[in-house]
Amino acid sequence: MLFLPTMQDNANKLHNILFSGTKNIVITTHRSPDGDAMGSSLAVYNFLVQLNHNVNVIVPNDYPKFLKWLPSDENVIIYEDNRDYSDELVNNADVIFLLDFGNIYRIQPFSDTIKSSNAKKVLIDHHEDPDVNIADIVFSYPNACATAEVVYEIIDRMNLNNYINKQIAECLYVGIMTDTGSFKYPSTTSRTHQIISKLIDSGAENSKIHDLIYDCLSSDRMKLLGYCLNEKLILIEENNSAIISLDSSELKRFNFKKGDTEGIVNYALAIENILFAAFIVEKDGVIKLSLRSKGNFEVDKIAKKYFDGGGHNNAAGGISNTTLSETIKKVELITNKYKNEIKKS
Ligand code: 5GP
Ligand code: MN
Repeated sequence: MLFLPTMQDNANKLHNILFSGTKNIVITTHRSPDGDAMGSSLAVYNFLVQLNHNVNVIVPNDYPKFLKWLPSDENVIIYEDNRDYSDELVNNADVIFLLDFGNIYRIQPFSDTIKSSNAKKVLIDHHEDPDVNIADIVFSYPNACATAEVVYEIIDRMNLNNYINKQIAECLYVGIMTDTGSFKYPSTTSRTHQIISKLIDSGAENSKIHDLIYDCLSSDRMKLLGYCLNEKLILIEENNSAIISLDSSELKRFNFKKGDTEGIVNYALAIENILFAAFIVEKDGVIKLSLRSKGNFEVDKIAKKYFDGGGHNNAAGGISNTTLSETIKKVELITNKYKNEIKKS
């Protein structure tokens, strides 16, 4: 019988590494970083600098403006804009943290650099089916509501909670808040609320954070949302499903900025009797899907089977290698094929 190391075993190993001299450390996270990706990365950054390590956060590509106030955001390096410098930092790294993803292709175009590094790799993640071979120490907790929650638990297991200052608390708060839909998804547990309580006690200004992330939307973004709901919503009521799609000309019409389509899929899912929702967008020549469900219909399996993707049971994503209209048809067929599974939820 195979015994996997417990979180405590791994936390002990990590503690030993972090307290055996100054290390060059690189932290990275998935492409198109979201609140949990940036929150957990910058939490780990703000934690490690206190232990006197040389730390750099390198993200594959740019991320939305509403995340750019996070503590130490000014130090984040964008790989696509700084390839040579990033490669050099990785070549000199002793330790690399891989946060909020389970498959190396999710950090393209940074994947090859990371794969070829001999540094000790630490994976901290909450996605289903991670490729555990990409790291030496694996903290994989698919039941956790956010990678930020796992980061908190690891610091807790290392008995280093006294390092959780206001900066770290705010980063972790953002990760948990955004990945739980503001504490409403089923992944939110009483432990999640306990952690949030501790983060507020450590200085996280919860109301301010909510305002900075959710209530500072551009008028273009609001109008794009209105357009999606008014003109682009396909309701397939007999299959309890809804689809919203956008092509690149529509994005242009609404002066699309990174992050503007985030959360649109949740409005489709908020409609009465809708248990499966898909948002499909054509961006930079790539067709990207966001899939959401309520209940037991596991959209990560759909994302994996049909769209080369993955994620969580109720929130997943992937890409399509055909046209936008063909992709919409494909999703419609999927809602037909799985209507009983969707309803059962
Ligand atoms: P979103 O729809 O917000 O982009 O992503 C929902 C969830 O699915 C997130 O946890 C995200 O990390 C995951 N996800 C999104 N796109 C992909 C993908 O292409 N591959 C995999 N494996 N996961 C994805
Ligand atoms: Mn996450």
